[in-house]
Amino acid sequence: MFIDKAEIYIQSGKGGDGAVHFRREKYIPRGGPDGGDGGKGGHVVLEVNPHLNTLYNFRYQKRFIAKDGNHGGGKKMTGRSASDLIIPVPAGTVVYDRDTDEVLGDLVENGSRLVVAFGGRGGRGNARFANSIRQTPRLAERGEPGQERFLRLELKLLADIGIVGVPNAGKSTLLAAVTNAKPKIAAYPFTTLEPNLGVVELDRETTLVLADIPGLIEGAHQGVGLGHDFLRHIQRTHVLIHILDGLAEDPVLDFFQINSELALFDPDLADKPQIIAYNKMDINHVQESWKEIKKELKKRLKQDQSLNIDDHLFAISAATGKDVRPLLYRAAQLLAEIPIQTKVLEQPIYRVEADPNQFRIERLSDGWRVIGESIERSAAMTYWEHYQSVNRFQRILEAIGIDQALRNAGIQEGDTVFIGDYELEWQD
Ligand code: GDP
Ligand code: MG
Repeated sequence: MFIDKAEIYIQSGKGGDGAVHFRREKYIPRGGPDGGDGGKGGHVVLEVNPHLNTLYNFRYQKRFIAKDGNHGGGKKMTGRSASDLIIPVPAGTVVYDRDTDEVLGDLVENGSRLVVAFGGRGGRGNARFANSIRQTPRLAERGEPGQERFLRLELKLLADIGIVGVPNAGKSTLLAAVTNAKPKIAAYPFTTLEPNLGVVELDRETTLVLADIPGLIEGAHQGVGLGHDFLRHIQRTHVLIHILDGLAEDPVLDFFQINSELALFDPDLADKPQIIAYNKMDINHVQESWKEIKKELKKRLKQDQSLNIDDHLFAISAATGKDVRPLLYRAAQLLAEIPIQTKVLEQPIYRVEADPNQFRIERLSDGWRVIGESIERSAAMTYWEHYQSVNRFQRILEAIGIDQALRNAGIQEGDTVFIGDYELEWQD
């Protein structure tokens, strides 16, 4: 079964807290500050794994939470950073932010990675806050919180094998015969410009994704533009099955004509290995002509020394399924011989380009709420039990202009201000 959609929750690790700590030495009443920094929290990263071709695993596991960084310690000891949480996904996974519908990434190639949530940075320990004036800082930061979000994953099946050939050769018939796909089969050419996809399970280990690529030739004739999906499939296809119409006037001529059109469309496409399948062998006179056609093809393909032609020539009946399996096995074999590059391509995560210092103030029945990315983060990183940390937070409020904005809004002594998970009392 192909599961093509999944929804998951991800959360990156929180940074470790910076330590408030003082050196303890015999006979020295109060040593200098030596609290170390916290370690970084783990990122959550999606990575294309070539051995997966479904989103099946996500039916059972839907929550992915990276580890937090460790806290800093005395003697300027930095907390250990958490390792990243790597979530394997199949090639062709498109990643959306569930709540905004924003596309975060389109993971096509093996090894591609996408950071979907950044781990928080470690808080700084009090050793970092010491200076000539402030020699005993009771000031440190807590670790930065992790990010959390819901993702929607959608798997777009990508074809391994493309089926090409003149209109009416039997491309759709072949696809329908061997896979679960239900393409339109017609005695007329211009049916659809969508690639029809089908999945065939040859045996337990071998699954092929076939695409009937009608639009390439038929659409190009009409000057119809090919869509994004189409290009993806063509790009990703590694082997082509080229179907010859046994009922055509001159199948060999058609063959060369299609190939030159492929090359015109995209030279890479013409370089992909091809298997030739002479179709409609259930018809008597097609069967009879096969010997002649084969000879002709061999003669004309002989210039290409690299090709052992016999390995690439098949005669089938797509309609009855006769000799179709050896053809597919050969395609699977060619596919397996193709070196699959694992190119690690770090894709940047999509981030909202808003000013992090932006904030807004909401009047509540029981106080005021300040909403803003950077101030909420600062609140989460404050040690409320240390007055110096609280002072620092106060200065940040002033620097961003929140202080002034609250006054302008008419805040009164004793009012409650909510910032993130925290409740503060306003004092002038
Ligand atoms: P496409 O344009 O390449 O997708 O061709 P279709 O699959 O739509 O087939 C075109 C016509 O050829 C249809 O009428 C099919 O029924 C017929 N056809 C396809 N394969 C065979 C075959 O193996 N034997 C026979 N007798 N007819 C076939
Ligand atoms: Mg068709």
